[in-house]
Amino acid sequence: MEKKTIVINYFQSKITELSEEAMNLVLEAQESIKTAYSPYSQFSVGSALLLDNGEYVRGSNQENAAYPSGLCGERVALFAWGANNSENKVVAIAISAKNQKGEFAKAYPCGACLQVMVETEIRTKEKLKIIVQINDQEVQVFNGVECLMPFSFSL
Ligand SMILES: [Zn+2]
Repeated sequence: MEKKTIVINYFQSKITELSEEAMNLVLEAQESIKTAYSPYSQFSVGSALLLDNGEYVRGSNQENAAYPSGLCGERVALFAWGANNSENKVVAIAISAKNQKGEFAKAYPCGACLQVMVETEIRTKEKLKIIVQINDQEVQVFNGVECLMPFSFSL
């Protein structure tokens, strides 16, 4: 048996040091937090997609008393894109979240959302840039879903 190693390259940056395009996308994700419906977790997630025509598609987590019926903010945005804007490619997604105290909190995409992002890359034939806000001042940037989900399911 041979031991193998995966190296994940990512970038960490202050939000204010991002490109204008990336900074605006993070601000869109922050705005999207306001539309979260999260009475059960009190953890509000906002997401925003940047399309290749410069448009944004917003999403936020939408919970339900029947817990599995709710949906993460990332998939709300990605499925809204699929239903409304899929003629334009998604080039990036930003994710911002606030905890019960109203403080910015790190929220990486869950496995299900990563799997949907994998399929988005297949549909657009482009790597998806993923920007995760990790505190009130900084983000981590991943160039492609494979950085967060190196072994994904595909047919
Ligand atoms: Zn998720």
